[in-house]
Amino acid sequence: MVTNLLKRLEEIYPEMVELRRYLHQNPELSFEEVNTPITIAEYLEELGVEVKRSVGGRGVVGIIRGGKPGKTVAIRADFDALPIQEENDIPYKSNVPGVMHACGHDAHTATLLGIAKVFMENREELHGNVVLIHQFAEEISPGGAKPMIVDGCLDGVDAIFGTHIWSTMPVGKVSYCSGPVMAAADAFDIEIIGKGGHGAVPHETIDSITVAATFVTSLQQIVSRNIDPLKSAVISIGSFHAGNAFNVIADKVKINGTVRTFDPEVQDQIIEKLERYLKGICDTAGATYKFDYRKGYPAVVNHEEETMHLAKVAKTIVGEANVKQMAPMMGGEDFAYYLQHVPGTFFFTGAGNEEKGIVYPHHHPKFNLDEKSMLIAAKVLTKAVFEYMKDGALVNGNERDVVQQTT
Ligand code: MN
Repeated sequence: MVTNLLKRLEEIYPEMVELRRYLHQNPELSFEEVNTPITIAEYLEELGVEVKRSVGGRGVVGIIRGGKPGKTVAIRADFDALPIQEENDIPYKSNVPGVMHACGHDAHTATLLGIAKVFMENREELHGNVVLIHQFAEEISPGGAKPMIVDGCLDGVDAIFGTHIWSTMPVGKVSYCSGPVMAAADAFDIEIIGKGGHGAVPHETIDSITVAATFVTSLQQIVSRNIDPLKSAVISIGSFHAGNAFNVIADKVKINGTVRTFDPEVQDQIIEKLERYLKGICDTAGATYKFDYRKGYPAVVNHEEETMHLAKVAKTIVGEANVKQMAPMMGGEDFAYYLQHVPGTFFFTGAGNEEKGIVYPHHHPKFNLDEKSMLIAAKVLTKAVFEYMKDGALVNGNERDVVQQTT
């Protein structure tokens, strides 16, 4: 059965390429997607898929109900583009000035539509249901995942799978990672308010620069002296602005920075400590402060069983040697929210190809991808989902032990 599905994906691969190129030529920015969701919904409706439009705003959800009982498994593809002027010289270059699919979300969408077609054609043979989550606005926090979940896109879903096509990894390779794979990326703004005055009479002022400098130096102790050394965290100050004259004590300092973590407990600890250090240092000096902390997407934390299931399936598609465990990355992804609700995994499908000049990273004006990556992603996802619906995760204890030793 699975063999037939994979063979069918090969047959319809040219259609996936066509769809991807159409989307590439017609990119839409996050939270401004109008025609993309219509294109997706119409394609799915044409196939006879049950479609929900405007899910959580601009999302599209398709449901394929299998002919036999089994689990309900979701696959997610995002569909927004970026505010980048494309510099590729290709026949399907973006038609929209200053907007470009520079992260491969066009390929994610075309891949999921191809999968939908093949599953729909074989609906009677499926054990379980497939939920197709076409998500808007991945690139900008607060993102589309959260409102789509609130609007019910995960209702009845037992597990979720998703991939990112990855241009800096060669096509033909697949990477997976159990546990945290992408970081929570937060931002903060701080203002330290002292009392300005003449540089010659410091005793009549509260020198905001001295206070802020003490704070910046002291906060280095948060990661080194407060966080469990076996857990990862970064606090970086990105800007520090104050004063404008050599003989004037500045009345205030503005600081901003970022915090990267993988563990929500560590994240909460850092938020608490940052304010505690800030308050303590300001109180000591008689200064006051404003503290604005903004959480970005949480960390993407993959579930072990689903990750190992995926890895096992991927090995049968691209060969054992081409499937590798990867190190976590400090970038963010709102796939994180789905994994807070249901088990699943987010993996990476190689799409780079030096011979074809496909060497540029994501969000680059010359970003492109080897379209064969779509066929690989489609095969891995189709097989992983088909098997999971029927039998759950295809992993036994021994195999998991072997993999754990290598991590
Ligand atoms: Mn992306």
